[in-house]
Amino acid sequence: LNRRLAEFGTTIFAEMSALAVQTGSINLGQGFPDTDGPEEIREAAVRALRDGRGNQYPPGPGVPELRTAIAAHQQRRYALTYDPDTEVLVTAGATEAIAAALLALLEPSDEVIAFEPYYDSYAACIAMAGGTRVPVTLRPDGDSFRLDLDELRAAVTDRTRLLLINTPHNPTGTVLTREELTAIAELAVERDLLVVTDEVYEHLVFDDAEHIPLATFPGMRDRTVTIGSAGKTFSFTGWKVGWVTATPALTTAVRSAKQFLTYVASGPFQYAVAEALALPDSYFEAFRADLRAKRDLLASGLAEAGFGVFRTAGTYFITTDIRPLGESDGFAFCRALPERAGVVAIPNAVFYDHREAGAPFVRFAFCKQTGVLEAAVKRLKALA
Ligand code: PMP
Ligand code: GLN
Repeated sequence: LNRRLAEFGTTIFAEMSALAVQTGSINLGQGFPDTDGPEEIREAAVRALRDGRGNQYPPGPGVPELRTAIAAHQQRRYALTYDPDTEVLVTAGATEAIAAALLALLEPSDEVIAFEPYYDSYAACIAMAGGTRVPVTLRPDGDSFRLDLDELRAAVTDRTRLLLINTPHNPTGTVLTREELTAIAELAVERDLLVVTDEVYEHLVFDDAEHIPLATFPGMRDRTVTIGSAGKTFSFTGWKVGWVTATPALTTAVRSAKQFLTYVASGPFQYAVAEALALPDSYFEAFRADLRAKRDLLASGLAEAGFGVFRTAGTYFITTDIRPLGESDGFAFCRALPERAGVVAIPNAVFYDHREAGAPFVRFAFCKQTGVLEAAVKRLKALA
């Protein structure tokens, strides 16, 4: 393994899911739903397979039906206009979109600012692209993790090329507010930065939180690569259908890298996702309501079990603080938890460069059936 990748080892999600299987634990670690997405969308995939749509290499940018559906979705939800032919690119999940964007846009030694804790592929992809990551730490502030805008501004140097943003944010559940996004946008314009924004949890926002795409802010459309995914919104994480929307120049750049990573992927599923994106608002509302109830169930259960619980405004993760349990090392806690309680969780420290800043935080996923969450809560309460 080369020096660029040596520090990353095996992704925590694979490690923890294997541990869950080995120990027969309830897996609230890796974020994937234990119920598949809508029947009619599965049927759409079957139809595509049967009718021979997408069984051979689909077009490089993605099938036209899906690119049109993605553009229509951005228009309908956010009044963002993208040309399906030149400004939309289908990728093998958001993971490939992130990799291709960074590989396409970074010069060696360019600095990339990302919030920590960050989704683990960010650090690896910045490294593969030869860039230098500059983490800006989100810190607990009341019941959520927030961005210190002064710290963000101070992190920008003459070498900064790109801001890598994620909202709603995995693992903290923070949704950036209009004020925070305005400040980020102003900074990007002032310092002439590109922005790659990972908005895969765009539909998973709760209560009064609102997801506002960065590309909607003044001066941002032309400098922003927006990333989405069908995995989260439609509960098909195995299909690996993601996408990019950006200007023709940025889309072409990302595609230049993408063509040599996978070339294309997920042929028949692309047709099914095109239908999913056109589902009526009632689908999105019902999905959100279901997850909100699950969030509430798990959050109150974790609080009763003695965890400090941060408020999840978006995503399907809850970040907890284990210090009220008399613990301080999330790694040790998560390694022992399967034996102690039969539950698997993720130590947030893996998402930090400043590991000590993340040490006492542990993430639980709530995209699971109600009975599974209830059983997990029962087990966790027995910890005390
Ligand atoms: N970004 C974030 C923040 C994620 O949480 C995930 C999924 N865990 C991804 C990207 C990857 O999405 P996909 O499965 O579509 O590759
Ligand atoms: N996005 C999911 C999570 O954060 C898992 C993705 C993966 O396993 N690579 O848990």
